[in-house]
Amino acid sequence: MADISYTKKIKIKYKADLAVFGGGIAGIGTACAAAKKGYTVVLVERLGWLGGNGTSGGVRGFCGETSKQGKIFDEIIEHLENLEAIEPHFYARDVFFKGRKYEHQYLVVVLDKIVQKYNIKLLIHTRFIDVIRKNRTIEYAIIAEQEGICGIKAKYYVDCTGEACCCQSAGCEMVKGREEDGLQLPMSVIGFYRRTPLFKKPRSVSDSYFNRNPIHNASDKPMTSFNSCGKYSKGVKIKIPKFDSTISNDLTQAEIEGRSELMRVLHYYQKKKYKKWELDHLSPIIGIREGSRIKGEYYLKVDDCRKGRSFKDGIAVGHYPLDAHDPTDNKRTYILDKKELRVPPYDIPFRSLIPKNIDNLLVAGRNLSADQLALSSARVMTTCCSMGQAVALGIDLCLKYEMNPIEIATYKPEELQKSVKESGICLDHEFYKPR
Ligand SMILES: Cc1cc2nc3c(=O)[nH]c(=O)nc-3n(C[C@H](O)[C@H](O)[C@H](O)COP(=O)(O)OP(=O)(O)OC[C@H]3O[C@@H](n4cnc5c(N)ncnc54)[C@H](O)[C@@H]3O)c2cc1C
Repeated sequence: MADISYTKKIKIKYKADLAVFGGGIAGIGTACAAAKKGYTVVLVERLGWLGGNGTSGGVRGFCGETSKQGKIFDEIIEHLENLEAIEPHFYARDVFFKGRKYEHQYLVVVLDKIVQKYNIKLLIHTRFIDVIRKNRTIEYAIIAEQEGICGIKAKYYVDCTGEACCCQSAGCEMVKGREEDGLQLPMSVIGFYRRTPLFKKPRSVSDSYFNRNPIHNASDKPMTSFNSCGKYSKGVKIKIPKFDSTISNDLTQAEIEGRSELMRVLHYYQKKKYKKWELDHLSPIIGIREGSRIKGEYYLKVDDCRKGRSFKDGIAVGHYPLDAHDPTDNKRTYILDKKELRVPPYDIPFRSLIPKNIDNLLVAGRNLSADQLALSSARVMTTCCSMGQAVALGIDLCLKYEMNPIEIATYKPEELQKSVKESGICLDHEFYKPR
């Protein structure tokens, strides 16, 4: 098909110190920490819910340590505790692959409240679409609101889209998936089965409903993880491998396949295990473990995690085991032995949140600069929220000293770490080590 060029005059509708793209846990951490410091912030989220994977994706547990992850994360926890929507605290160092469960629908409401408290200009149902870049600076970002396209002028832009959409538009160096073939960790669809029928007569899925054969044996099932949601409901997570979450056509196929697999598994439990379960509801989006990420000023490697490396500009501590799913397969298969999954606490350097050759763009969250295995540990929500808060503090120093982010990482790492610690994020590895 032919290329066309397209020009349009648009209004610069928003001005702020920071424009944050993506309202997942990393975006929330960034936006709130910046606003807490007194900066004006516009937060742009394409969906109607804040929280990203942690709400819209159906994830219902904070993996990693949930204490000492910064005052913004503390606030989130406090709200959930007040609503009795989170289980009691336990130390991550005492468990293996276990998250602190919370009610994800409550988290949606909590995040609305916190963002309002900080007077953040929130635009939901609004999508980041492009940037206008001049040399090493982003001059404007372009967003698509319900009513049309408009511009944002900010001093700093933070990409928390999970897919590094803004960095991609700005022409930054990107990576995707595993090194040898670009295959990403599988996406997973998360849905909810109702455990007791809604009506007197339980509804069952018919054998002929599927385009493919029904599941007859447990060994034919895709990896199916259940998450108890009390007496009436059951969360169910199914792996959908080999689709590329950065391509709309793949994402469409993955969503459709995911929902169909949820029904196929439901059918199996109804027919073979005589369960009276029904479909309750689906998550609005498929869970995306990784999309595109940047190749930034530092590329965090799995070796850094395994060796428990510290960095002068460490701004968060990763400590969750490597979630090394096999990207090719929908079973519970890992590419590493169980004993290789645990890693000692390691630093996430500020430099892994800085794209190369650009002065006013940073990232936080699962689109950081890391290899696939390092990402599989660093992407848990506790760590993503710390990254977000730390990025805001890094920008605070950039503005204070009129330096760019890499200069802060190079010349002011102690001051950055001091500010991060004061914000309530624990950088002491000892705290995270199993006792
Ligand atoms: C199946 C699955 C299970 C997981 N289980 C756990 C778990 O139990 N515990 C845990 O801690 N972690 C878990 N994780 C990992 C964790 O949920 C994510 O890595 C984390 O939530 C990432 O946060 P984020 O803010 O970086 O990105 P996301 O949560 O992906 O948020 C990105 C946000 O950006 C928005 N966005 C994207 N593009 C645009 C755009 N162009 N314009 C505007 N907005 C945009 C998205 O809508 C989204 O809200 C799991 C992940 C998956 C997929």
